[in-house]
Amino acid sequence: MELFFLGCGGGRVVLDTQAMPTGGFRLTDGKLVMHCDPGPGAFLKTFSNKLSFKGLNTVFVSHCHLDHVGDAKIVIEAMTLDHWHKKFGTLLAARSVVEGIGEFEKEVPEYFKSLLLNCKAMTPGECRQLLDAGKLTATACDHEDPSSIGFIYKSAGGKTVAYTADTQVFAGLWKQYDLEGGLGAFVVNCLRPASDRFEFHLCLNEVIAGVTSMKNKPKMIVFSHFGERFLKAGIDKELTRFEKETGVKAVAAKEGLVVKI
Ligand SMILES: [Zn+2]
Repeated sequence: MELFFLGCGGGRVVLDTQAMPTGGFRLTDGKLVMHCDPGPGAFLKTFSNKLSFKGLNTVFVSHCHLDHVGDAKIVIEAMTLDHWHKKFGTLLAARSVVEGIGEFEKEVPEYFKSLLLNCKAMTPGECRQLLDAGKLTATACDHEDPSSIGFIYKSAGGKTVAYTADTQVFAGLWKQYDLEGGLGAFVVNCLRPASDRFEFHLCLNEVIAGVTSMKNKPKMIVFSHFGERFLKAGIDKELTRFEKETGVKAVAAKEGLVVKI
């Protein structure tokens, strides 16, 4: 199983200036090739990183914010290009993305849904078998988009990867990732450094407290979704502190990063 990062930036300033790219990441496990959170840049960064849409068969969108969904339409269209007049591929997404909820208008219109074999709004706890690869279980978030979801993916061989998506701390946040044996890799969207809290997001000290509270520690945390203040504080400095305080390996997502699990 492998993760390939096409982005690592988050929040409005980093998104709008592209101080860091915002294309999300790919999870590959056997036949499963899933693009997670295709924010702006996902489409072009796929080519510039010498990946292709030919193998892509699944797209996961955690919520309706632009830095997670901006390129979803073109990624879906490119994924289905070789299957013209035939439905192909799967979209797993928060309900807002495919149906719209209140002020969050749906981001994937009917035309793009019509290209897909499966288009599924998921709620926390719901589980889906993906091809003959593994199982994805949606996890809960507490974010501005009330239907936001993260996931835990478990391969047929028992390897695990999880993704918090965007969330603030709530009771039970870390418990859902506290799996026996510990996650193989845990992608955590951490917008801000130190104790610089911001509503609906995580700061580094909250992640330190969360990981410390887990009985089964992840083997590795991949930090992503860095906001402007995190860049100013220094990613390396903050991640070194994280490792020191938790004893868990920390890696900073960046364009082109490959994580093997
Ligand atoms: Zn968000």
